[in-house]
Order: sequence, then structure tokens, then C-alpha cells
Amino acid sequence: MTRRILIVDDVPTNRIILKVKLNAACYEAVQAASGSEALELARRHPPDLVLLDYMMQGMDGVAVCRALRADPATAQVPVIMFTASGDDSAKIAALRAGADDFMLKPIDDKILLARIRNLLRTRSGELAESSAAMDGFGLAEPAAAFDAPGRVALIAPRPETALRWRGALAPHLPGPITLMGREAALDGSGGPVDLYIIMEDKGGPGSGLQLMSELRSRPGSANAAICLVLPASAQADAATALDLGADDVLRDGCDAAEAALRAQALIARKRAGDRQRARLAEGLRLAVTDPLTGLHNRRYALPALGRMLADAANQQRPCAVLALDIDRFKSVNDRFGHAVGDAVLAEVAARLSSALRPGDLIARIGGEEFLVALPDVTEGDALALAERLRRSVAERPFAVVADEAGLQVTVSIGLALASPAHAADAVLACADRALMAAKADGRDQVITSRQSAA
Ligand code: GH3
Ligand code: MG
Ligand code: MG
Repeated sequence: MTRRILIVDDVPTNRIILKVKLNAACYEAVQAASGSEALELARRHPPDLVLLDYMMQGMDGVAVCRALRADPATAQVPVIMFTASGDDSAKIAALRAGADDFMLKPIDDKILLARIRNLLRTRSGELAESSAAMDGFGLAEPAAAFDAPGRVALIAPRPETALRWRGALAPHLPGPITLMGREAALDGSGGPVDLYIIMEDKGGPGSGLQLMSELRSRPGSANAAICLVLPASAQADAATALDLGADDVLRDGCDAAEAALRAQALIARKRAGDRQRARLAEGLRLAVTDPLTGLHNRRYALPALGRMLADAANQQRPCAVLALDIDRFKSVNDRFGHAVGDAVLAEVAARLSSALRPGDLIARIGGEEFLVALPDVTEGDALALAERLRRSVAERPFAVVADEAGLQVTVSIGLALASPAHAADAVLACADRALMAAKADGRDQVITSRQSAA
């Protein structure tokens, strides 16, 4: 899909020059001649990225950038601001307003295109899309755990360079700034890090890039923000660094306030990614969890049972499957109401769970039906455990009704032993038939399937 880039500049020739460059790189370019026109266009149809002139008649670039950031529809759209003549204060104002980068004209095409690729890749990746998809689930973003100040690691070939950078950044950044060696960064012994600032070694160019790639490939640091600090020259290196996955590139000797602002933006973005990942993980957890009992649901249980049976077959170990069903549960609902029925379900789930071993599988696979799978058990052990489960429900009345004596609840259980190469549904069908037999024979009992599951 072609990416749409909005060019905002009040000088027509500037817009046309940029448009030609963008079209040549296969981007769709949309133009706005003023800040207000840009905001209207962006609101109606948010672009994938905005190239924004700093100095414009009427609403200037900083005001436009602030307005984009304040509108939820455009808050995440990457913005690159540029100007023909600007000093450090213009740059700081642009970064403060939320611009992702600031460039001085004449703009180096190679750097601009590398920056665009980099921002498009990091902002509109799979994570952002999956997180947007979670919006429909009404899942709130988990916030609390991510509020601590960002942890920064400085990695420099020479300690004096690292110390100089720490001295410059420390007054601007609230979190700890740790000087870290390459090994400590790679093996994780340096502790968790939100932002790695890596100084490229002048004597060994490319070592910073290599370290960055190594960090990206390791689970502990794959999602951290990485900023490469390049020697004051070498434009081409910046484009390479951005293409290879640096989140930002700084020049050695740049203004400390600028470096700090960029670092803060990188930390904020990394934290936003953490929140999205946590939200996604929570969404996945909820999708396989039964909210009433907290047990896994059917969607999780059947594939999990399949995996357990495959492992059992591979290791030539026995494995047992139990189908459990609450006896005459409909009458609990009929006599005491649905809420009491729900409380009984939750209590049955709790009693069954507490009687199991850590590697056992338990799930609620139907209204009042549960599945338990026991890896690595003999028939005798499985039967003993099934009996224990049955007793854990029957032995004590449930304190879910006003009556002091409580409510007597029982379960019937069908037990099937899995032999190698049995499919999950075949073993479950055997356990179900044994369960039916237990029901027919008077309930509150365990019956073992004598049928082959094949
Ligand atoms: P049997 O001993 O033969 O299993 O009889 P039963 O009454 O337990 O079985 P039946 O399948 O006839 O009824 C199951 C009942 O479980 C019917 C349904 O209303 C109830 N049920 C299913 N899911 C829930 C639930 O989430 N909450 C409550 N309170 N009841 C539920
Ligand atoms: Mg029942
Ligand atoms: Mg039933």
C-alpha cells in the first residue's frame, strides 16, 4: 500500500520539489499551503507522515505540530520539521512541540528518505495495528507499571566520552543514566534499559551499528530504543543507521538540551510500545480465559490438550483425560437463581484447581463442564486423582445459599487413558462416554473408559 505523506509549506516551489522527490521514492504526496489547510486535511484523512515547514505565514510549523499532537486522530503521525535558516532555539521549539526530527535546508535527500522510512517503519508496524484492533475489546491501557522514569544506558568506547555525555544529559533526564560496557549490554547483566545511547567509535566505524544489530536480536533489548551518536561528519552513516534500525541519530558535540529532548521522546515512545505490548498480551490472555472461573476456556484447552497428547506420545508416557460435569446443575439455577449457580461454578473451579498438580491442565469447556488433563500418570494415579477431585466437591457443602447447612454439590467424572497417537477429540470423546455412563449409573462417581480412543 502506498504511504501518504502530507507536505506543508507556504512556498509552492518548495512543495513541488519535495513532491517530486517523494513521488520518485514511490510515496503519494498531498500538499497543504497553510497550517490551517494542513490540519483540516490531516483530520479528515490522517496521513502516514507530515513534512512541515517551520516558518509559515499565519499558523507556523510549531503551532501546527502542537495541534496535530493534541488531536487523538493525528497524535501518533510522525512529523519532520524543516527550515531554511534556523538556530538551535528553532530546533528545540520544534522538538518540544512534538516533532520527531528537525532538518535544515538544503535537505540531504538520502537522510530525509532514510528518516521517512525509519519513522514509517517504527510507527505503523504490526504492533500499532494489533493495538488499534484491541480498541474494539474495550481494554484500557495498563498504565501504572510504566510510569517510572526511563533508564538510559550510555555505551562509549572511551569512558571520558561517556562521562561527558552523562554530565550533559543528567540535568535534563529524571531517570538513571548508567555507563555500560558492550558485554553488560549484550548479556543483560547491566539490567533493564529503556534507551541505549551508543557512541560510534571513531577508530572503528561500524562498531556502533554492529552493537545495535546485536541488541535488536536479543529478547532483553529487542524492544529498547536505540540512539546512535555519530562523529560530527559522515552524513551517509546517519542514513545507514536509520535504515538499520536506529530510532534516532545524534552528532557528537550536539546541544545537550536537544539530545535530552530527543532522549525523552525516544523513552516516551518506547514506553508507549511497552504499553501496547502489555495490552496485547492481556488481550490474548483474556481471549483464552473464562471470566467467571478464571480457568482457561475451550479455545485454549483443546489445542493445549493436543500438545500434551503429542508430547506424551513422543516421550512414550501415559496421559489421562477427565471430563467432569456438575450433577443436576439446572436445578441449582431453578431453585436459587443464576447468581447462585455462578457462585457454585466458581467454587467448583476453585476446589478442582487446588487439588491438581502444577503441570496439569484444567479448563471450563462448557456451561458446567470441565476438562482436566493429567500428563505422565498411570491409570491407578489418574483414578486416584479423579476420586480426589470428586471428593473435593462432594465432601463439604457449598456456602452459597442463606441456609446454614449450605448446598450439596456433586460432580460426575469420565476418565480416559490416552495411548500414543490419539487425537485430542478422540480421547475427549472417550472421556465423555465414560461421563455419560457415570451419569446414567447414579452420578457423583468416576467411571473409567474401557473403550479404545482410536
Ligand atoms: P446432569 O446431572 O445430567 O448434568 O444435569 P444438569 O442439570 O447439570 O445438566 P443440563 O445440561 O440439563 O443443565 C445444565 C445447566 O447449566 C443448564 C444451564 O442453564 C446451566 N448453565 C450453563 N452455563 C451456566 C452459567 O454460566 N451460569 C449458570 N448459573 N448456569 C449455567
Ligand atoms: Mg450437569
Ligand atoms: Mg452438562
